[in-house]
Amino acid sequence: MQDLSNLPIRPYFSKELLKDPEEKNFTRQVHNAHYSSAVPVQPKKPELVHLSSSFLKDFNLTVGDKSKLIRQLSGATSFNDFESYAMCYGGHQFGHWAGQLGDGRAINIAEVELNGKPHTLQLKGAGPTPYSRRADGFAVLRSSIREYLCSEAMHHLGVPTTRALSLIKSGDWVTRDILYNGNPKDELGAIVCRVSESFIRFGSFEIFTSRGEKEELKQLVDFTIQHHYSHLGSPSKATYLQFFKEVVTRTKDLVIHWQRVGFVHGVMNTDNLSILGQTIDYGPYGWLENYDPHWTPNTTDLQNKRYRFGKQPNIALWNLTQLANALYPLIEEVEPLQTILNEYKRDFSLGYHKMMCKKLGLDLHEMIEGEFVTQLEDYLEASQLDMTIFFRLISRNETLSFESFWAVIEESTYLDERALLKQKVQWERWFERYSTFLTTEKMPVEQRSAKMKLVNPKYVLRNYMAQLAIDEAEKGNNNLVDELYELLLKPYDERPEMEKWFAKRPDWAMNKVGCSMLSCSS
Ligand code: AMP
Ligand code: MG
Repeated sequence: MQDLSNLPIRPYFSKELLKDPEEKNFTRQVHNAHYSSAVPVQPKKPELVHLSSSFLKDFNLTVGDKSKLIRQLSGATSFNDFESYAMCYGGHQFGHWAGQLGDGRAINIAEVELNGKPHTLQLKGAGPTPYSRRADGFAVLRSSIREYLCSEAMHHLGVPTTRALSLIKSGDWVTRDILYNGNPKDELGAIVCRVSESFIRFGSFEIFTSRGEKEELKQLVDFTIQHHYSHLGSPSKATYLQFFKEVVTRTKDLVIHWQRVGFVHGVMNTDNLSILGQTIDYGPYGWLENYDPHWTPNTTDLQNKRYRFGKQPNIALWNLTQLANALYPLIEEVEPLQTILNEYKRDFSLGYHKMMCKKLGLDLHEMIEGEFVTQLEDYLEASQLDMTIFFRLISRNETLSFESFWAVIEESTYLDERALLKQKVQWERWFERYSTFLTTEKMPVEQRSAKMKLVNPKYVLRNYMAQLAIDEAEKGNNNLVDELYELLLKPYDERPEMEKWFAKRPDWAMNKVGCSMLSCSS
């Protein structure tokens, strides 16, 4: 066990990569550097909302001096004299090259070793940096609760993600115009401390290639391989290709997980894709309720719905193509990069099909045509079934008959009875095929149910749940934050005392801001 607030500093990114020589904090273009000095703003009255006990447990950490820790994790004092900094990166936003972005409101406050591996502690919302452009560098409680709860929820769902260690109210007011419609409001400021082995994004490489800064690009790639892909060996063209291939595989696996649990990231810009294949940057994300591949929670994206649920796999490929372009100067051959990108399509289809079969409790995925799954998706959409409830109910420990299957559909639909009845015949035909597959597999029902419950979560952070916790917390009551945190520690378990959260979206949440609609204003 180690005391978190006294962890020794073990610099890696900041020690091995290039620091911008300018120490002053003003908005600027930063050339030939990987990061710039940035110091958090003194919070007025830091107050802990939540500390992730599961994070502490996973990394064998204790909390000795709590008030010291709160000062560190709110940016009020340095973390054991570490020189904090903000990272430089660029990115494609909504399909267009946006130039330099960088950590506009993220500051890395410590580099430490956790479980024998290098980790970075990063504050989100602790004040402006050289990359803040026209924004203030702060974050509000509402979006910070969403990031905090969802990071930890994703981890416990088994989806790769940056972790969240703490959520602290700053005691300052932050002005935001939630719907960008000329109604700015003062909101409570907050700071999340998130942790990852690396916060390097696709855009971290793109910025150097876009500027022709090849040496800085090479340094960053070599650094990433040495620290995070060390099994690939020493730098060479072959190693760079292997590196790219592994990032492609990890990104593919990540998106398959998202599709499995019904997560819509909402802003899959290349600056929001992690080089480790983790979910990063929880902004206007959302969870599918009625199965709708065209749904995005992000109001900023309603016109084109570029980042809608059903498009996430293709967008990941588009982003990987941008990463290939960024790595090109070190490889100087298009064909091997293109071959790897082509493999993504094939591997994604295979992996996705296998995952969907697993959700249905079917192991023999090679025997099952893709069209069987596509048909299911069409019917889920047409019948407006709640994705989480449908898959969880068919995971029950019982042999399904069409009657019991139909009862599941009735229980999970958002349609009225008459509209749903029109779909009954097609469901009956689909169910016949499903039950034939189930019979062929001969898996004991108890065993199948147990396996299905490991891939079909009972509890996810529905948009309205997060909003309820936010509404309470804004009034000073953190009980719901605590309750949802506890709930989401065990998303696959049956927990009778938590059954109220296994429910369809209530009607009031249908068109409410924060529930079905979220903007980037945070
Ligand atoms: P996002 O799409 O939310 O990840 O943000 C895109 C870019 O805008 C990143 O460079 C962020 O650091 C920056 N950004 C977002 N919000 C703020 C803010 N309140 N202050 C400064 N920079 C911000
Ligand atoms: Mg971002």
